[in-house]
Amino acid sequence: MEFDVIVLGGGPSGSSCASFLSKTGRKVLLLDRAKFPREKTCGDGISGRSVSVLRELGILDQFKKVEHEDMFGVTFSSPNGIVVPVAAKAKTSPGFVCRREVFDNVVFNHAKSVSAKTLEGFIAQDLIFDGQRVVGVKGTHEGKQVEFKAKVVVGADGAAGITARKLGSVNDDPAHQCSGVRCYYEGVEGMEDKIELHFVKEAIPGYFWIFPLPGKKANVGLGMMVRDIKKNKVNLQKIMFDIIENNPTFKPRFAKAKRTTEVKSWLLPYATKRTKIAGDGYVLVGDAASLIDPFTGEGVGNALISGKIAAKVINEAFVENDFSEKKLSQYQNQLFDLIGGEINSNYRMQKLSNNPFLLNLVIGRAAKSNYVKGVISDALLNPHDHAKLVDPLFFFKALFS
Ligand SMILES: Cc1cc2nc3c(=O)[nH]c(=O)nc-3n(C[C@H](O)[C@H](O)[C@H](O)COP(=O)(O)OP(=O)(O)OC[C@H]3O[C@@H](n4cnc5c(N)ncnc54)[C@H](O)[C@@H]3O)c2cc1C
Repeated sequence: MEFDVIVLGGGPSGSSCASFLSKTGRKVLLLDRAKFPREKTCGDGISGRSVSVLRELGILDQFKKVEHEDMFGVTFSSPNGIVVPVAAKAKTSPGFVCRREVFDNVVFNHAKSVSAKTLEGFIAQDLIFDGQRVVGVKGTHEGKQVEFKAKVVVGADGAAGITARKLGSVNDDPAHQCSGVRCYYEGVEGMEDKIELHFVKEAIPGYFWIFPLPGKKANVGLGMMVRDIKKNKVNLQKIMFDIIENNPTFKPRFAKAKRTTEVKSWLLPYATKRTKIAGDGYVLVGDAASLIDPFTGEGVGNALISGKIAAKVINEAFVENDFSEKKLSQYQNQLFDLIGGEINSNYRMQKLSNNPFLLNLVIGRAAKSNYVKGVISDALLNPHDHAKLVDPLFFFKALFS
C-alpha cells in the first residue's frame, strides 16, 4: 500500500503532524504499536506552548470534557526549604495537568477524525530504503509481516523508537539525557492551582515534582541527568520516597496520602544534543528528534510544534515534488529558529539549577521581592523571557531588590 506520508508513532508529535498534514489533503498513514488509550510515563504537565498548538488544531475545548486540572503558575522551593508560589500573569489558564493516557487519546483521535488512516498494534522493526532515501516502514501487525511505502516517513516513535536508531540520530549522551521516575498519589495535602517544582537538597542535581490532578490526586516524580545518576550511583525511586517520607516540607503533605500506581521510569532526551532530524525522505519529530526542554523537562509542547512545522515543510515538499534532504532540512532550520534561543537559555538555567547556593539565593529573594517574582512569572508565561533569568544583571538586581 502506498501513502503520501507515513507517520510512525501516535503520541503528541506524530498525531499533531498527521492532523496538520491531513488538513492539507495529504494521504497519511498513522501507525502505532499501542492501542489507544495508552499510558505514557510523564509528569502530565501541559504547558502554554502546548495549549497554543491545541487551540490551532481546534481541540482545546475537548479537554474541558476530560479529567484535567487548570494551572495558573508554578510553586518552587529551594534546597534550604523556602517555598515560593509564583502566579502566572495571565487571565486565562496558561496550562493544565492531564494524564497522558487521557491527553494522547484526544490528540490521536483528532488525527483519526481528520482522515489520517490509523493502524494500532503495528510494531515497526525497520525502515525501508531505496539507496540513501527512506521510502517506507516494515514491521508486524497481528503477528504478520507488513510493509508500507510513502514519499516521506515521519519518525515520531519517541525516546526508544526505531527511527532515530536506524538513522544514526539517537541522543544517547548521558550529559544530554535525563531519567525520570513517576507515580500517582491520592490524598496529597496543600496543593493549589500551580505545578510544583522543588529543588530539594535530596534531589540536587535534579528536581522533585508534584503536579496536581483533580480531587487531591497528583502526579509525583523525580528527574535527574543520566550523567549524574551514573556518576553518583543514584537510585531515583529511593530518593523520591525519602523526600516523601522524611523531608520536613513534604512529610506532612503526604502523611495521609496513598500511592495508587507502581513507580515507572523513562528517558527524556534533551534538546541540548543536536542530532540530524531530516534527510532524504524522512524527518524526525518530538522525542525521536531529542527536543525536550533541558530545564523544565517539558517535551509535549515541542513535540506538538515540531509536528506542526514538519507538516508545513512536508506539504511544501509535495508542492515542489522535492523530498530531498535539502528540502526537508528546512524543517530542522525553521524549528530551531523558533526554539533554539530558548533551549540555549534554559540549558544555562539547568546548569545554574545544579548550584544549591544560587537556588537558595534566587528562590529566597523571590520570596521577598516582587521584581524577582515578576521575572520568574514572565519567564513562565513566555518561553522567550527565560533568557531574563540567566542574565547576569538579573542576579545583580535580585541581590539588591
Ligand atoms: C518521567 C517523565 C516526565 C515528563 N514530564 C513531562 C511533563 O510534565 N510535561 C511535558 O510536556 N513533557 C514531559 N515529559 C516529556 C514528554 O513525555 C515527551 O516529550 C513526549 O511524550 C514526546 O512525545 P512524542 O510524541 O514525541 O513521543 P511519545 O509520546 O513517546 O510517543 C511515541 C509513540 O510511538 C510509539 N512507538 C514507539 N516505538 C514504536 C514502534 N517500534 N512501532 C510502532 N510504534 C512505536 C509509542 O507507542 C508511542 O505511542 C516527561 C517525560 C518523562 C519520561
